[in-house]
Amino acid sequence: MEKVFRTGIGFDVHRLVENRRCIIGGVDIPSDKGLLGHSDADVLAHALSDALLGAAGLGDIGTYFPDHDPAFKGADSIVLLKKVCNEVVSRGYRIINADCVIICETPKINPHREAMKQILAGALGVDITQIGIKASTSEKLGFTGRGEGVAVQAVATLYGALIPQKI
Ligand code: MG
Repeated sequence: MEKVFRTGIGFDVHRLVENRRCIIGGVDIPSDKGLLGHSDADVLAHALSDALLGAAGLGDIGTYFPDHDPAFKGADSIVLLKKVCNEVVSRGYRIINADCVIICETPKINPHREAMKQILAGALGVDITQIGIKASTSEKLGFTGRGEGVAVQAVATLYGALIPQKI
């Protein structure tokens, strides 16, 4: 059967608040503010999960891990990302690469970028060169610019069977 590339997009935002850990891409970043959420609020793991699910046509992480379900309270989002990876791979897709942009004024991402790449690559069972992570500010504009939250955009590319077109 012919195989093709499929692309998915993911986006997530979490609010920065006091008295929360700041976990991004599985890295616990020392910071006076952390990310608020039902799970560990790992905004990068969430956006990447959605990109992978989107590429496979499988909906979003809210479907798999509802934020009202006590089972996912404080959940390690890297564990959830691994489950998403299993969903995708078990349907015959191979993960080719993923690329992510973290948009925030704070915390500083660059010192933690390689550790994040290593953790995400490990979760997806791919080489570190298949994961891209970039950091950007929004030039002090909007909620990210004011340091009120962190946003992440992600894209993922899969390789798998072409579904025949019906017409
Ligand atoms: Mg989220």
